[in-house]
Amino acid sequence: MERLVIIGTGCAGLTAAIYAARGGHSPLVLEGRQPGGQLTTTTLVENFPGFPGGIDGPDLVMKMKEQATHFGARFEYTEGVGFEPRPGGGAILTTDDGRIIETQSLIVAAGAAARWLGLPREQDLIGHGLTSCATCDGAFYRNVPVCVVGGGDSAAEEATFLTRFASKVYLIHRREALRASKIMAERALANPKIEPLWNSAPVEYLTDDEGHMRAIKLRDTKTGAERELEVKCVFVAIGHEPNTKAFRGKLDTDDGGYLLVKNGTTSTNVPGVFAAGDVSDHVYRQAITAAGMGCAAALDAERWLTEHAATPA
Ligand code: NAP
Repeated sequence: MERLVIIGTGCAGLTAAIYAARGGHSPLVLEGRQPGGQLTTTTLVENFPGFPGGIDGPDLVMKMKEQATHFGARFEYTEGVGFEPRPGGGAILTTDDGRIIETQSLIVAAGAAARWLGLPREQDLIGHGLTSCATCDGAFYRNVPVCVVGGGDSAAEEATFLTRFASKVYLIHRREALRASKIMAERALANPKIEPLWNSAPVEYLTDDEGHMRAIKLRDTKTGAERELEVKCVFVAIGHEPNTKAFRGKLDTDDGGYLLVKNGTTSTNVPGVFAAGDVSDHVYRQAITAAGMGCAAALDAERWLTEHAATPA
């Protein structure tokens, strides 16, 4: 029987691991299929406090893992694929290698994955003029044209944010109107630096000799006509998918599949099971907010263990 299992090794899971390990709980951390979470797909992180010159995303998560290991966290390259609430609290997990892990408490910090367009060479271009995070990467594209793909709140918000840096922001949407909330859509469309391109579907990324983004090829969804649009960076903002498949029907989620937490804590509807980071947050989605939630989840789990679970022999 484990005392505390943490699912996920992004900022939320690793911060939870640091706190729980330092608290003497020797948590077992299941790394999952994308160890390190979304930070491993970014380059320089300039907005994580404490690193005035910035830090590479993969370095940041590696340092967090080192810190958690130093205090006694145990890591396994395993994914939790099945979940059952344990009578009395906590969880019974099934792993992708067929094992059953019973635990008195669980922190789900499995993260979320940005949706991508599915165009050729997409995964190779991430970090070379293709990104899903304007807050992370917008400041790298000063005084150059960029584009945002999508028509929701994220696309409207990211396009508006990017006008601080870029010379021009094209807002590329496959329909004739944004689906974003009225206020955010109006704000974006009123901005003189933002030019909406309606009925436009991206069909190809075009790169320069060094493999960086040069342009995006668009198809008019009404006429079928294709055109090239010169941009230095494509910001894809077509939504995120929380990694909650294993918990559906067992842990409460909102309509988007994000785990619901109660009363300003990280508690889910199952006693002894907590959620932190992008798996339960579709609003802030920052490394630092995920880390903060991971800390809160470790403190909530510690409190729960103290009150409800027997100390292991
Ligand atoms: P979203 O509302 O699901 O919008 C996704 C957009 O991407 C839609 O316009 C969709 O087009 C488009 N899209 C999806 N797949 C596409 C594809 N393959 N090719 C081209 N376009 C594609 O996602 P979101 O904007 O990330 O928002 C998610 C949630 O977070 C929402 O509840 C939103 O209100 C919330 N949010 C809130 C804030 C805020 O309040 N500050 C900021 C960001 C997000 P269609 O319109 O054609 O479906």
